[in-house]
Amino acid sequence: MGRGRVEPSLESAKPVKDNSSMPLIDQYHRPVKDLRISVTDRCNYRCAYCMPLDEYTWIEKDEVLTFEEITRLATLFIQMGVEKIRLTGGEPLVRRDLEKLIAALSPLPGLKDLSLTTNGSFLAEKAAALRAAGLRRINVSLDTLNPERFRQITKRGDLEKVLAGIFAAHGAGLNPVKINAVIVRGLNDDEIVPLIEFCRTNGFSIRFIEYMDVGNANSWSLEKTVTKQEILQTINQHFPLREVGRMDGRAPAIDYQFLDGTGDIGIIGSVTEPFCATCTRARLTADGKLVTCLFAQEGHDLKSLMRRGATDQEICQVIRSTWTVRKDRYSDERWENLRSGAGYQPKDHRKIEMITLGG
Ligand code: SAM
Repeated sequence: MGRGRVEPSLESAKPVKDNSSMPLIDQYHRPVKDLRISVTDRCNYRCAYCMPLDEYTWIEKDEVLTFEEITRLATLFIQMGVEKIRLTGGEPLVRRDLEKLIAALSPLPGLKDLSLTTNGSFLAEKAAALRAAGLRRINVSLDTLNPERFRQITKRGDLEKVLAGIFAAHGAGLNPVKINAVIVRGLNDDEIVPLIEFCRTNGFSIRFIEYMDVGNANSWSLEKTVTKQEILQTINQHFPLREVGRMDGRAPAIDYQFLDGTGDIGIIGSVTEPFCATCTRARLTADGKLVTCLFAQEGHDLKSLMRRGATDQEICQVIRSTWTVRKDRYSDERWENLRSGAGYQPKDHRKIEMITLGG
């Protein structure tokens, strides 16, 4: 597993011509390697930093991809180069019988890694079934260890249920159990060290995520983003670290190990250290739209194509023609604008909400 940092300049890349005999690469020579599948846009939480609105236009139930449709598309994406699939949402565990989808996806030839990101609220009852269906590892979002603050952030959540879910996942043999924590200034920036202590004590990994301007509903501002460097500094004061690097050279997180050998962490610095140059992620919305960037404004409708009776070859052709013209480098551009003082305004970019396109 290569973990060197390969972050070539996108500006110097030459355009690529489409040719179905060529490996699937975009305009900046980035292959498609990872697929995030949103299995539902519904979520039982209303996290302040994600999608806090009570009223929202949800995808109609019959527009949501069936497990058979998801499996068919996943199979085609794997044929086109995808090696890793992450199930997400919305909250993936609100989708009934999710373990059946995992059982269908986990044995797909060529799939090297299948994972799931959840808020953990239903994990206590689901962990054993997920593991039995073939899931090996899991990411659980947890931004605070304080029950009142947890309620304040999620509006609807119960910390105790999530903690029970995390321990159930560990007990069921999901390994690693990774905790995802978004750090927002003034909200939970005093929880970096307690969260690390919790993870080190219990054998969990942790990923800190810079607060991003995903979607349009979360009132993001740069001042609220606790930067990767700040997070690192806080951690180093308590638990000295050494950098390991980006898994496979393309993972969102830069990983670190504690010098005392107990545990590891990762930091996702999407805002202040964007990694568009190594982004190999495609996303599939719950209603079957192919999205080529977390900050995209629109997707490409694969569901209608499938439901009109398209052949596998025709679907692959649409995936190919979408990916080969991909030029997304939103986070790079945002950072360039922020640094140059060019007046970046997140509200100028109407994006698909993260809850819809799959975080
Ligand atoms: N419901 C699941 C969950 O809570 O993990 C999966 C969907 S959620 C959108 C996926 C991940 O996105 C979570 O780890 C969440 O913390 C992260 N996330 C949501 N909004 C974010 C934001 N504004 N900045 C950074 N990460 C965010």
